Amino acid sequence: MKRTVSFSKDTRNVFLHILTACNLRCRHCYINPKQHGIRMLPAAEAIEWLRLLADSGANLVLLGGEPTLHPDLPEIIRAARSMGYGSITVDTNGYLFHNFLERSGPDDLDYLSFSLDGATAETNDAIRGQGAYDACVAGIRKAVAKGFHTSLIYTASRDNIHELSRMPPLLAALGVRRFFIQVIGIRGKSAGAGADLQLTRNQWEQMVPPVAAAAAEMGIIVTYPKVFLAENEPFECAGLLADNYFIFPNGRVYRCPLCEDYPMHGMRIRDGGLVRREGITENGLFSLQIPEGCVINKLVQPDNLSYRPDGAPEYRIACCMLKETVQPKPESKPGSKPEPGPTATAAEIAGT
Ligand code: SF4
Ligand code: SF4
Repeated sequence: MKRTVSFSKDTRNVFLHILTACNLRCRHCYINPKQHGIRMLPAAEAIEWLRLLADSGANLVLLGGEPTLHPDLPEIIRAARSMGYGSITVDTNGYLFHNFLERSGPDDLDYLSFSLDGATAETNDAIRGQGAYDACVAGIRKAVAKGFHTSLIYTASRDNIHELSRMPPLLAALGVRRFFIQVIGIRGKSAGAGADLQLTRNQWEQMVPPVAAAAAEMGIIVTYPKVFLAENEPFECAGLLADNYFIFPNGRVYRCPLCEDYPMHGMRIRDGGLVRREGITENGLFSLQIPEGCVINKLVQPDNLSYRPDGAPEYRIACCMLKETVQPKPESKPGSKPEPGPTATAAEIAGT
């Protein structure tokens, strides 16, 4: 059962980077310390910022850097829960510092989301660093044994697309309940590699939907970005139609993650308030209409476009936050109903 997750102004999604430091040095890391600083947000400030954005039922993703390097992460999670955030997810590389699994419980979080970029240590560690595969798999096993709901993000690129089809059985064996296949973004470290990492339209369409269907057959909910719009599909910009906030510890607040390598943030947190920035920012780009679809995609990662001899684009690129979700059929998990796929939650939008 596949569906496109539509944008809604009624669902707020908050992505709070509580620090930018990390123990890993992944090849495709999108964190850009020149733009986002090297600060760890003190717990009191993180909680104050969460209060600014708390909205009944808002979805929250806490991320970094590696968020479990923050010694006060469990307190920040509990504060967010008490403010009424509807769902809370932590994105982790799996090292789970500061005894995170002992200091938090399955009831504190909706999902603990792990990042793995290969079905084998050979492929994953070539991207994420020596030992990252074993640490992540051990972290998943421990979290599942403690009763946490787990999900997994796989950032698909030319470096690892050959192992994508091996992921569903691995996830089923580990007890992971949701699978996010993410497209590599040309941001941060990836910006130097450009077209060498991005998948072509054919690669994406031939590899990703069949793997998603196979995972759903195994009882796993799968979410992946649409990337390429069909001719009859409307183009929509989440910057205009959704209520998303990508927040960095230096106070920058973006509405569009594709802008994060540039000082184009549309808002910032200053003096305890969330303020809209005037001047040249992402806000001025969201309403521009171009034949290629997303205008910021054309500006920052034009290598994923191609043109006909008459100069017209061969296809339009969807908003990077437009996702497809594939739900397992009810009968694929005997005795259980499919887990409700929340509409356009932060977890569905996120994934790095
Ligand atoms: S991608 Fe994530 S785990 Fe890898 S270096 Fe960047 S922040 Fe760390
Ligand atoms: S990715 Fe493109 S379409 Fe989506 S919010 Fe950014 S500018 Fe808008």
